Amino acid sequence: MSRHVPIRMCVACRRRRPKGELLRILLTPEGFVLDPSGKRPGRGAYVCPDNPECWKEKKLRRFAGAKAKALAEALAAHLGGMHGQGQDLPAG
Ligand SMILES: [Zn+2]
Repeated sequence: MSRHVPIRMCVACRRRRPKGELLRILLTPEGFVLDPSGKRPGRGAYVCPDNPECWKEKKLRRFAGAKAKALAEALAAHLGGMHGQGQDLPAG
């Protein structure tokens, strides 16, 4: 079975990977929304969920600009928790 696998690029490290290996970020007028299901309508972007380097504000700035900080925090909260670590999230 050789189904076509869509390839997407991580906006942080620019590595190309199968879409299923990446975490989708939905681009909305209000800002970025994480879309773990990958199924919400709208424009999307992708980051590596398994590489904390790709969640860093500095790496995201080229893509997210002034919203990089908020995006980095959302990614760390979502993905850090997923691995059972990262319990040191700042309050608020
Ligand atoms: Zn990446």
